[in-house]
Amino acid sequence: MIVEPKVREYICTTAHPQGCEESIKRQIEVVEKQGTMEGPKRVLVIGCSTGYGLASRITSAFGCKAATIGIMFERPSNGKRTATPGWYNTVAFEKNAEKEGLYAKTINGDAFSKEVKDQTIELIKKDLGTVDMVIYSLAAPRRTMPDGSVASSCLRTTGEAFTEKNLDLRNNEVNTKTVEPATDEELDGTIKVMGGGDWKDWIAALSEAGVLAEETVTVAYSYIGPKLTYPIYYNGTIGMAKRDLHQAAKDITAEFKTRGVQAYVSVNKALVTQASAAIPVVPLYFAILYKVMKEHGTHEGCIQQISRLFHDKLLKEQPITDNEGLIRMDDWEQDETIQKEVMDIWAKVDTDNVKQLADVDGYWEDFYHMFGFHYENLDYTKDVDVEVSIPSIQ
Ligand code: NAD
Repeated sequence: MIVEPKVREYICTTAHPQGCEESIKRQIEVVEKQGTMEGPKRVLVIGCSTGYGLASRITSAFGCKAATIGIMFERPSNGKRTATPGWYNTVAFEKNAEKEGLYAKTINGDAFSKEVKDQTIELIKKDLGTVDMVIYSLAAPRRTMPDGSVASSCLRTTGEAFTEKNLDLRNNEVNTKTVEPATDEELDGTIKVMGGGDWKDWIAALSEAGVLAEETVTVAYSYIGPKLTYPIYYNGTIGMAKRDLHQAAKDITAEFKTRGVQAYVSVNKALVTQASAAIPVVPLYFAILYKVMKEHGTHEGCIQQISRLFHDKLLKEQPITDNEGLIRMDDWEQDETIQKEVMDIWAKVDTDNVKQLADVDGYWEDFYHMFGFHYENLDYTKDVDVEVSIPSIQ
């Protein structure tokens, strides 16, 4: 099949297997350039196939030489349509891991479910005995709760309606977007899906089954962002879920103290991923941030973020946190000079000047790369096999 991008606003419904392989190759190169680290040896990554979770799996495997078990929710190709990018990423990841002699197995299913938790525990018991690091990097629209009810997450405010400038992804024009307040039910649903409840369930299940090593480290990812986006992000429904996640880290560390489990939240940088592209207002902030950070030489992608997380902040005798106990990988994004320049641009950006003042091309480059497109060294006119299977799929 000749695979072309089919973009609908913030989603691309096709993915290119070779492009995804290229993306994995480039991410491995970034990690290998940093050199090998003393770190975890058996890592479980929940949400392993794209974005920050994928970067965590690559860093664990190629930076620490760790065995990895990954959990994801991806769709294979049925011959007529391509697989999702996370599927192709995982094919390429496992291929490269095997070449390096690194253990890698993947479970494709609903991480919120008891079945997948049980399946994971069985696999750990059978192949690894225990894991010594658990990365929790899910971004999902809904969660089937243990009682069978379905909770949905939404991106709304928790106070007044909020109107701000927005990048219209259909035509790159700057318009305004109004985000309405959530109902109590919507807020509750978002906390259930994106908060810390399921992370706690995972750690409890793993601990109970005896598959957590002594002094296991577990890390989940969060975002805070600038004051500008507080109404839609940090003080919005998603921010309330993130606060719940931050509390979950404290709860996990307290509850599993006797086993030495340490839970951390790493607050990461704003980056284009499938999850973040869907948030209103935020993509315009991303495009301006990219421009300013690239000019200052401090721009990073997911892989640079996670590689720096492991190297500089996490794999220390005592991980480096702020006063709230959060690891701040958004330190360069939140730098005062960077934020001042971003806000100055925000005040004047409009449809006529957005291409000059913001890195709209950089935004779209990251977007297309996520789906395996726009790699200059690949020939996209060639036929590719889209029905590829993941060697270890469970
Ligand atoms: P993403 O969409 O790239 O990745 C989500 C992952 O979760 C994928 O591997 C997907 O397969 C998996 N997944 C989704 N639903 C699942 C389910 N039911 N069962 C099993 N797997 C499932 O998202 P991302 O942006 O990398 O987000 C990961 C975490 O990082 C989130 O907590 C997000 O809030 C946080 N974060 C993101 C940003 C950003 O700007 N993108 C910034 C800071 C923090």
